[in-house]
Amino acid sequence: MAGITGEMRAQAREMLGFEKGGPERYDIDGVVRDAWINGNGSEATWKAAVEKHFRRFMVGDWVRVTVQTEDGFTEHHYGPIENFRKPDGAYYRRNVAKPHAAFVHPEYTRSHVVPLADLVEEIADFEIITEWSTVHEGGPKHNYGVYHCMGLHGTYPPPAKVMVIHKVSGRRQRFCDDCNTAEYRARFADQALHYQRSSKQTILELRANPALITGSAAEPTDPWDETPADQYRSWADTFPWLVPGPAAELYAQWKEARSATAAA
Ligand SMILES: [Zn+2]
Repeated sequence: MAGITGEMRAQAREMLGFEKGGPERYDIDGVVRDAWINGNGSEATWKAAVEKHFRRFMVGDWVRVTVQTEDGFTEHHYGPIENFRKPDGAYYRRNVAKPHAAFVHPEYTRSHVVPLADLVEEIADFEIITEWSTVHEGGPKHNYGVYHCMGLHGTYPPPAKVMVIHKVSGRRQRFCDDCNTAEYRARFADQALHYQRSSKQTILELRANPALITGSAAEPTDPWDETPADQYRSWADTFPWLVPGPAAELYAQWKEARSATAAA
């Protein structure tokens, strides 16, 4: 049987340049062997070979690990893949296209060996907006309507080029292209995790008794005298994504009834 030639590899690399992630995400020799040496070279054979030898994850890729805490919270932790492991926990001695598990050491949790099926690419947790007019919508007047990058630049941050939306929280952060990295995005998501952790008590109270959020408000004559219910509501306005479902529903009804009363 004929072997794999340099021309075959070059041609495969060129063709893979159009696939997701580019040629470095593929085991080139595996693709060539399955598509052109053992395979008949048809489009279907090529596609199957490409799918089989695609490396969805590589060492250094930032991934999200989902952790369920004992008191019933779902947490997202981020970190780069450090290496891959076999089902018995051993290392692979060579690159394989479909490793069993990855070793990840996220900043906010203990280390994990996580099956690949449970890993999520960090980028999947964000929406990236690149249109200048959207990124700078409502931009600061004193800076000609242009937002700065929120990355670490010191005194003269460059203009933002993208708006990164953290899907879970809906929070937005503007970055320049240099700062729109997995690490910065993960740090931004970590902020949401910190808010969730520091709000734990409030969340647990509202889970146990959603009606706490519709309690009586301060008298209009004394707006500074916040009631406990007022405090739940202002917390809910600040962290809407953390409000437990039933409490969020009651709060929405409460707001509707209040605006109806005000309109009457
Ligand atoms: Zn920047």
